[in-house]
Amino acid sequence: MDHFVITGARVFDGEDSLGVVDVEVTGGRIVSVGGRPEGAELIDGAGATLLPGLVDSHTHTDEEALRQALTFGVTTELDMLSIPDRMIPLRRLVAESSELADVRSPSVGLTHPDGHPHQLRKGEGDPPWPVATRADEVPAFVEGRIAEGADYIKVLVEDGHVFGDSLPTLDPGLVAATVREAHARDRMVLAHTMTVASATQAVDAGVDCLTHLFFDRPHTDELVEKIAAAGVFVIPTLTVIASITGEPAGEQLAADPRVRAKMTPVWLDSLAGAFGASPRESFGFALDSLAALRAAGVDLLAGTDAAHLGAPGMAHGASLHGELRLLVEGGFTPSEALRATTSVPARRFGLDDRGRIAPGLRADLTLVDGDPTVAIEDTLSVRRVWRGGTEASLTPAASGA
Ligand SMILES: [Zn+2]
Repeated sequence: MDHFVITGARVFDGEDSLGVVDVEVTGGRIVSVGGRPEGAELIDGAGATLLPGLVDSHTHTDEEALRQALTFGVTTELDMLSIPDRMIPLRRLVAESSELADVRSPSVGLTHPDGHPHQLRKGEGDPPWPVATRADEVPAFVEGRIAEGADYIKVLVEDGHVFGDSLPTLDPGLVAATVREAHARDRMVLAHTMTVASATQAVDAGVDCLTHLFFDRPHTDELVEKIAAAGVFVIPTLTVIASITGEPAGEQLAADPRVRAKMTPVWLDSLAGAFGASPRESFGFALDSLAALRAAGVDLLAGTDAAHLGAPGMAHGASLHGELRLLVEGGFTPSEALRATTSVPARRFGLDDRGRIAPGLRADLTLVDGDPTVAIEDTLSVRRVWRGGTEASLTPAASGA
């Protein structure tokens, strides 16, 4: 079925609701929106809403994860740190299979040789990580990641505090050097930070993005103003912050029949868990930071930090829907939450071929029952999914391991 028309569905084009209009797809591309196409196979979208394929802007992924993500309407995952030995072959697979969500990745990130996330990766069998401990080693670090296919460069400034740990952190001078070298090679720098102090440091060093909200204490107006003035975008990852602070967001999601139908018991157990390493009140700090950034007009992107099995409170695909719900609880309108998982990540990551429903773009499409522009929880009622115009199977992933 190369030429088809989704008819009778409400369309949210990534920016706004268009009402009920026909969307025509040929050869993997959207060719018309709101036209009166003829000679195509008709797909009945009555009672449903057609969305651009969803983007999860913060994951750590693999083949099983990308398969699961797609069954939940997530057509692109932005990986935020993976081992190149696994990411390079995975990207080959993604290019060949329409059953996997698409992926972008920074390869490994720059961290202190004994820093985060090594304390979480014991037993993962990682090869030695490339590092830079002096500014004159940074160009080679950045070149190395680009040679591995990095779409952007990741740095990690984490003292372990929110994990109830104490870890050596990356020198701020190395973050600034990474920004210089990455920008000279046309790559953005994305910073893992979780505290007000480390976020301030990273923004002062010139990074383009914070891959988490800061939530160790109430935010400062100064930091929010600094982020807005610098045009930095933020991926709040309320999902992982809920897990770290013991909020039962994952548990609620794991109880949803629409999630249970598609996920193996081991993944459901993992999703229902929580790190619980920070005080519960810190989740309130995160929501306050979110509201302040939103009021300041900062671009905010929906991302979950879904990772490997055993990272509690998150699961690929399902958690993105939980993140949208948390964003709405944090003050977003449903349409703003939908933009945060479609057009906004496409714009900020230069993914010009997706994130909206418009002629010429990839036919990455997610059809959901109901109307998520009114009730955000309807995004989980996935009826059909297309990646590049090819319909994806929505049956659950085969393996639980
Ligand atoms: Zn992460």
